[in-house]
Amino acid sequence: MAKTIAVIGAGLGGLSAAVRLAHKGYRVRLFERNSTVGGKMNIRLAGGYRFDTGPSLLTMPFVVDELFASSGFRREDFFEVLPIDPICRYFYPDGTVLDTHADTERMMQALAVISPRDADAYKQFLKYAQRIYDTTAEVFLFTPIHEWKELLRARYLPTLFGLRHIDALRTVHRSVSSFFSDPRIVQLFDRYATYNGSDPFRAPATLNIIPYVEYGLGGYYIRGGMYRLVDALVEIAVRLGVEIYTNAAVERILHNNGRATGVLTDGQPIAADAVICNADVVVAHSELLDIPQRAEKLRALEPSISGMVFLWGVQKSHAGLAHHNIIFSSDYRREFTQIFDQHAAPDDPTIYISITAKTDPDHAPPGCENWFVLVNMPYLAQGQDWATIVATMRATVLAKLQQNGLDIEEHIAQEEVFTPEDFFSLYGSNRGSIYGISSNSRMTAFKRPSNRSRDIAGLFFAGGSTHPGGGVPLVLLSGSMAADMANTYCTL
Ligand SMILES: Cc1cc2nc3c(=O)[nH]c(=O)nc-3n(C[C@H](O)[C@H](O)[C@H](O)COP(=O)(O)OP(=O)(O)OC[C@H]3O[C@@H](n4cnc5c(N)ncnc54)[C@H](O)[C@@H]3O)c2cc1C
Repeated sequence: MAKTIAVIGAGLGGLSAAVRLAHKGYRVRLFERNSTVGGKMNIRLAGGYRFDTGPSLLTMPFVVDELFASSGFRREDFFEVLPIDPICRYFYPDGTVLDTHADTERMMQALAVISPRDADAYKQFLKYAQRIYDTTAEVFLFTPIHEWKELLRARYLPTLFGLRHIDALRTVHRSVSSFFSDPRIVQLFDRYATYNGSDPFRAPATLNIIPYVEYGLGGYYIRGGMYRLVDALVEIAVRLGVEIYTNAAVERILHNNGRATGVLTDGQPIAADAVICNADVVVAHSELLDIPQRAEKLRALEPSISGMVFLWGVQKSHAGLAHHNIIFSSDYRREFTQIFDQHAAPDDPTIYISITAKTDPDHAPPGCENWFVLVNMPYLAQGQDWATIVATMRATVLAKLQQNGLDIEEHIAQEEVFTPEDFFSLYGSNRGSIYGISSNSRMTAFKRPSNRSRDIAGLFFAGGSTHPGGGVPLVLLSGSMAADMANTYCTL
């Protein structure tokens, strides 16, 4: 009889693990506490508008393709992946507007309008970022870094002992400033640290692989909306026989004599040969397990940045906006000091606006736009009053939009807001963080919780709070690593 694997949570990490294991012939039982699947990658439909609630930019689409292929399917049969150009339109406080492109020549031309010297430096920067990617990706992204046997393969050792070569000793900001001199271009490349929820003024320059991933490998969108990835994974999972239970919160991870034996949901024990936990590792140790020392250690890790999202159905269209847009703050350092040191909402936030109706016009009624607006926020800490912060931030964002000629307040026909408290209550994210653990230190890759429980055999972790980190491709990879480990464990 097929062995049973229980998966806790139908975020991308849980879905990735579930389809891989079902393809290998396991009986997979997937428990999701919400009524919808997808976790942070979710969807809202209201008043003729369609919104993605989480990820809006897809990078490394080959990871998605590989997941489909390894489960016996072709991604192309489910949805189209589109390169986006411009990747993003940037608006600076001094009125400069910059479109960024994956095409190197076009990107250099765009940068040259701001600074010809920095446009020349761009090629060097991209080369440098690619070198870090080439050196680190296999070890830090595609390998379960906490599995010593894997890690000690001879070909990985130079990377592990060569912190200097992967630029782990400088911060993102110092490194970016050594290539570029115009503060607007420095701010552009500093921004990539936020893609994994970190502070560019603290995070190691190794994170400069992120601009390489975006410009060297490209920025993509899923035609029809990002949630189509979740729809497709569910379709595959069902075809492979995964049993998906929604409104099914797991209350405990069951174990006996140091081995996982199943999960408890709705007061009922469900037996399993192995358990994959896609719930946040830190929260799971506090709420689903009874290992207080481990829980305390994990709670000491600094969470990533959080965010505030406004979904606005806007009865107006704006020819000057692209699919992805950023309106920068005037003092980036101050923004991160407020977020990470003071745990306070920034008073001059960087505003990200994604409008999928630019690519999929049916995502909004004719003449209207579906705005997904994201501002960086601190993770949950004492003394924050989110009702007040929402009111202040809404007014701040609308005023800043108005200064940029985007007068939308009177035209907002639909509205929904997500705060860090919502990311905690909806998806169980540790202190409302949206990318798991921050990378604000040199050793983060090693401190990030491993995919294998250190305390209970047969318990594995998948998702943004575990290795290799947050963001769609990495989370899918974590599901794959957890699935491989569970498979090995069950076949021993
Ligand atoms: C606003 C926002 C914007 C983002 N933008 C991007 C982007 O543009 N590009 C990108 O690559 N990434 C982006 N991300 C990050 C990306 O969404 C996440 O890294 C990824 O979706 C997280 O997947 P996950 O599997 O870790 O977990 P989650 O999505 O957190 O899923 C975990 C699931 O487990 C469930 N669960 C928790 N506890 C239990 C329990 N006890 N029992 C049962 N179920 C449980 C939760 O309900 C949830 O469904 C963004 C995230 C947010 C929030």
